[in-house]
Order: sequence, then C-alpha cells, then structure tokens
Amino acid sequence: MKKLSDIGTIKEILSRYGFNFSKGLGQNFLVNPSVCPRMAELSFAGEGVGVIEIGPGIGVLTQELCELADKVAAIEIDKRLIPVLEETVGGYDNLKVINDDVLKLDLNKLIEDEFKGMRVVVCANLPYYITSPVIMKLLEDRLPIEAVTVMVQREAAQRICAEVGSRESGAVTVAVNFYSKPEMLFNVSAGSFMPAPKVDSAVMRLNVYKEPLFELEDDKKFFTVVKAAFAQRRKTVLNSISSSLGLEKSVVNDVLLDSGVDPRSRAEKLTMNDFAEISRRI
Ligand code: SAM
Repeated sequence: MKKLSDIGTIKEILSRYGFNFSKGLGQNFLVNPSVCPRMAELSFAGEGVGVIEIGPGIGVLTQELCELADKVAAIEIDKRLIPVLEETVGGYDNLKVINDDVLKLDLNKLIEDEFKGMRVVVCANLPYYITSPVIMKLLEDRLPIEAVTVMVQREAAQRICAEVGSRESGAVTVAVNFYSKPEMLFNVSAGSFMPAPKVDSAVMRLNVYKEPLFELEDDKKFFTVVKAAFAQRRKTVLNSISSSLGLEKSVVNDVLLDSGVDPRSRAEKLTMNDFAEISRRI
C-alpha cells in the first residue's frame, strides 16, 4: 500500500477531493514521515492488541497502526474524509472507520463490540481544541485500556506530564495522575504538519493504572476540590477553595488543618494524598 506521509502524495489526494482544512475541527495533518511509525510503535500496538484512533484524517497514522495491531477502530467526525479514508486505507481488513464525534460515542460499547479478547490502547494525533475533554473522557469512563499515546500541544503535554506538587502542575496534572502515569515521549515541530500550527507539539503516553491511585467514595468531589484549589492559583488554597465553592473560610480552614494541609499553601504545592484527604473531609 502507498505510504501516505509523503507531502506530495497527501497534497495530490486532498486536491483530487477538493478538500479544504477545517480550522474548527483542528485539522493539521502530519506530513513528517518519521513521526507516525514512531508513535505507532510506542503506543504498544501489536499482536493481540486493538487500537482506538481518534481523528484519522487521511489515514497517515491509521496505516501504521493497521500494520502493527490486530484491529483498529478509527473515529472521524468529518464526513468529507470518509471517502478519502476508503481510498487510502480501505484495503486493510483489520480497520473499522466510524463517522462520529468521539465525545458522543459510547467507547465502552465500542470496545466490547470490536475488541473482544484483545488488549486495548488508544493512539491519536488529537484535535487540539478538545485535548482535555477527550483525555478526561478516556480516563473517567474507566475504559479497559492500557495506554493512551497522543500528540498534543507541547505546552499541554508539559502541564500533564509535570510532577504533581511542582510549579508546572495544574488541575489536569492531578486529574490525569489519579488514573495513569504520564510519560513524555518526544517533541514534534510545527513544520511537521500541514497546515503548520502556531505552536509546537509533543507525543506523550498515559500508562493507565488498572485501578485508580486510591479509592474514593466520590471521584467527582475529588475533581471539584482539585479544580477549586487551582481556580485562583496565585491565592492560598484556603482562599481559592472557599471562594470557588462558596464555602465559609472557617469551615475550609478546619478541613485543611484536619487534612494536614497548611491553609496558606498554594495548590501547586499539594500532593495527590492532600487532595484526597481534603475531598474526603469537605
Ligand atoms: N491523524 C491525522 C494526522 O495525524 O494527520 C489527522 C489529525 S488532525 C490533528 C485531527 C483530526 O481529528 C481531524 O481529522 C479532524 O477532522 C478530527 N476530529 C476533530 N474533532 C473530532 C471529534 N470530535 N471526533 C472525532 N474526530 C475529530
């Protein structure tokens, strides 16, 4: 099958279909031939593995995944790309293309229907406008997946892969670390895409835990506390949590002290356990 990551081939296919890129759908297609094979390899796609791909575009990464995995389910929202994919990767009998919005799809059902008896991973060059909602959906839905290997804006990857308790961390760092161990894999320059975005990108892998880091009675409360603590990150956790959740300062102060947290600290200094203790008590 023809290699797709060559820029001449991609331009020829897209012009034949009269395709114009949709900025709103985050369409920046990979044209650097070294990126997709590397991503596919690092995603754990292989024998006995089913892969969910989000946003296949014209199929550059899809092709590499189909070569390695037992089965690939590729979810693409843009119906103009369906006939293109039929031409470029339709020859793979281990591929199922689904024309849908990943945020609306029941992924548990998809896994049950398509990947019986297989280990499951996710691999995608994500549309950047929905990076956080997609990642949180994959993790919060408690899908039986082993790893999520995704290309995202470099800044987003740095935030997610930061140490919890470091200056670079944020609410998303804590949320992702509750379900997985994030790992930065490699950087990708803006020039690797067509059209080139304004920012550089990076590929990271979330190694998903079989069970979340600790048992909580109410996961939602944990995330509410985390978001509230980071909502005004320059303020103390006492001020940020009480003003974001509309709670009396004295109440929040007692909760923090009982949780062993200094009310004057900033959210970025707190550990996973600190957040868990606060959410148990609040
Ligand atoms: N995988 C291709 C590549 O690397 O060249 C394309 C990546 S491009 C950054 C993102 C892709 O996601 C586009 O094909 C876009 O149409 C698709 N997309 C955008 N929003 C989506 C959604 N909500 N559900 C599924 N696919 C989506």
